[in-house]
Amino acid sequence: MNENMEMARLLFGDITAAPEDYEERYPARDLKEGAVVTRFAPSPTGFLHFGGLFAGFIGRIAASASNGIFYLRIEDTDKKREIENGAQMIIDGLKAFGINIDEGVISQTEEKGEYGPYTQSRRKEIYHSFVKRLVERGLAYPCFMTEEEIARIRKSQEEKKELTGIYGGYAKYRDITVEEAKRLIDEGREYVVRLKSPGKAGGRIRFKDMIKGEIEMDENVLDVVLLKKDGTPTYHFAHAADDHLMRTTHVIRGDEWISSVPIHLQLFKVCGFKPVKYAHISPIMKEENGGKRKLSKRKDPEAAVSYYEEQGYPRGAVWEYLMTLANSNYEEWRKCNKEEDINKFPFSFSKMSKAGALFDLAKLNDISKTYISTLTAEEVFDMTSKWAKEYDRELYGILTEDEEYALAIFAVERGGRKPRKDIAKWSDVKEYLAYFYSELWDKKRDFADNISSDEIIRILERYKEVYEPDGSADDWFPRVRELAVELGYAASPKEYKASPDEYKGHVGDVSGVIRAAVTGRRNTPDLYEIMQVLGGAETLKRIDEAIEIVK
Ligand code: GLU
Repeated sequence: MNENMEMARLLFGDITAAPEDYEERYPARDLKEGAVVTRFAPSPTGFLHFGGLFAGFIGRIAASASNGIFYLRIEDTDKKREIENGAQMIIDGLKAFGINIDEGVISQTEEKGEYGPYTQSRRKEIYHSFVKRLVERGLAYPCFMTEEEIARIRKSQEEKKELTGIYGGYAKYRDITVEEAKRLIDEGREYVVRLKSPGKAGGRIRFKDMIKGEIEMDENVLDVVLLKKDGTPTYHFAHAADDHLMRTTHVIRGDEWISSVPIHLQLFKVCGFKPVKYAHISPIMKEENGGKRKLSKRKDPEAAVSYYEEQGYPRGAVWEYLMTLANSNYEEWRKCNKEEDINKFPFSFSKMSKAGALFDLAKLNDISKTYISTLTAEEVFDMTSKWAKEYDRELYGILTEDEEYALAIFAVERGGRKPRKDIAKWSDVKEYLAYFYSELWDKKRDFADNISSDEIIRILERYKEVYEPDGSADDWFPRVRELAVELGYAASPKEYKASPDEYKGHVGDVSGVIRAAVTGRRNTPDLYEIMQVLGGAETLKRIDEAIEIVK
């Protein structure tokens, strides 16, 4: 038996399955040409934040747009950094945004799909089998260097301004004999398994990133660690083995990984794997004081994925917004395809921002308002109550106490050709409908500043006489107009503008007084509809109250 085979047997005596066994067990996927097989592969080391969610979203839409597969793999090789329920938080986070997975980890204990296990800590034999093969081929070796030795080397490399790490002459155990390895192991010395990098100093590699385009970098010369002392793989090695065996076509991840691509491509090569395509996403940016900076977990509440749920942004609206961040041509497409399912949008990596998409809360609000304006009253009621049940018990109680009344409120100016866009998120709803509920309304009346109290009383007294609780929508405004003219106001803003000296104001001022009396506000949806919902008795009561207040 040759030296390498012996070394492999020494290090991996317990490993019986060969890489070929796994190749057979995880066959090429039977998918259409061009189908994107991709994954979201977080480490369960902290909260899911917006950047991670965005990467997951891109994976989902890239797979959907190509009839491919999107799966969730949990990269839990760093047990020290793992947090309790880390995987569950990721699963819940994706779910909350409606980012469904086709395969992978579905709970702390369950997985679905034929290419698993999808949790790295459950794939140890697989990694060992592939590393064993590298050792057999003389492409990997055990390294017994101590932490102190490595630190010393690094320090001297830094002083000499050399590339830091274990490579070339620094790779003390590159050519270790089986005999020596056996002796050290018997002594109880710990070791890692390193790649014997075939890279040459001065060598360059070139690859095409799906988002960033052509990239040229130094070839990897480092003898990177494949297996750590406890036998767990490093991220570098594990992702290569996993992405290969899970038949991944595209690795979509944050661009902090670009610098590792030379290592990754080398690993694919030495292992004999077909390289994946990489799509490195630039960090989401925010505008600040005329400049740009990265969206920050510390400074920006919207960087936490919990923010969207807590504020009550509907999923569909967040998807619309994420799509605008993903592809700049999305909004144009949406304009031309108003009713179309969002999954029909032809997503493309090349239309993603190289500089980093700009996060804009005001835009999210606008998109969300438009989105909510297209929902039915029932949908708004259902979604708001579901949200309120969790985040605003008072609102929940009020809405569910009289469902019919709440539905009538949500139906105001909804469903027509130009629905109002007042609500951006469910946490806006309480303020939006406050004046419909005595528990929520402060009863203050915000009358326009340019009308005297006497005039307000005059308008309201007269309006009470002409008000018809059961009158039709078509009659309502003409009646207010007649009243306005009778009291010395112009019948339209236009007439008023033509000869302002002849009038006290125009019909809008009169309806404004009625609006403020009935709702307290200067701006509301259609006042006729509001009065219908409140009913005649309540409307009159409010007008009387208003008169008392201004008296
Ligand atoms: N586990 C890595 C991380 O959380 C994944 C990077 C990748 O998607 O390959 O950053």
